Amino acid sequence: MPKKLFLTLALGTIPMIASAQQQPAKPEDTEVWAPEPKIVTPGTTNSDAPSDAIRLFDGRNLDEWVGTGKNEPAGWTVSDGVMQVNKKAGDIQTKRKFNNYQLHLEWRIPAGITGSGQARGNSGLYMAATDAGGYELQILDSYENKTYVNGQTGSVYKQSPPLVNAMRKPGDWQTYDVIWTAPTFDSDGSLNTPARVTGLHNGVLVQNNFVLKGTTQNIGVPRYKAHGASPILLQAHGDPSPPISFRNIWVRELN
Ligand code: MG
Repeated sequence: MPKKLFLTLALGTIPMIASAQQQPAKPEDTEVWAPEPKIVTPGTTNSDAPSDAIRLFDGRNLDEWVGTGKNEPAGWTVSDGVMQVNKKAGDIQTKRKFNNYQLHLEWRIPAGITGSGQARGNSGLYMAATDAGGYELQILDSYENKTYVNGQTGSVYKQSPPLVNAMRKPGDWQTYDVIWTAPTFDSDGSLNTPARVTGLHNGVLVQNNFVLKGTTQNIGVPRYKAHGASPILLQAHGDPSPPISFRNIWVRELN
């Protein structure tokens, strides 16, 4: 028998036998009934916190936040349901620590923003802030404001440009919806699994399960250093443009 014909016959026969033994015979054979997913009551709109979310900012106070690097309350201002960056007070971060999560965040570049490039409404969402650095999803005025593409809004800073630019104009509220998978480390401190992020800006996919190369660095290459559950941080960037605002921040833990 020619070798090719023999292989065709042999390979063609084995799956037929296997499928005869294992192929489900009726619809019920492939139905799964338990355990049932937990019931979560969604908000009125997709921006409202679902019933199992932790409200990190509900417009009233900064009780969930603390000044980064200080044992002081977060020094940003709150009025009319909105928190505004206080650049002199510096970054703020959550008191709680998180591993994997789904986050919703709303932010606004002020109308009449000034500056250009990275010095125009710069802030940032650090999806995990660690002693060795953080992982920044950039916030910037990227509406008709040119800069390096791996530093515009929706970028994982200096690692991954956004898939598209979905920026609204200054003065309009913007949304971020982020699914963060924290990195894991072995007991000797070496990387086990890298961090991953999926991000939507104004409902538009800008990061699709991007695998991070390490913490985001302004100078130099990304690197990993072992850490555990970490705070979420909002950046008070030192650029001289008017401060940006945040509202309606909630998180669902996925651990
Ligand atoms: Mg930034």
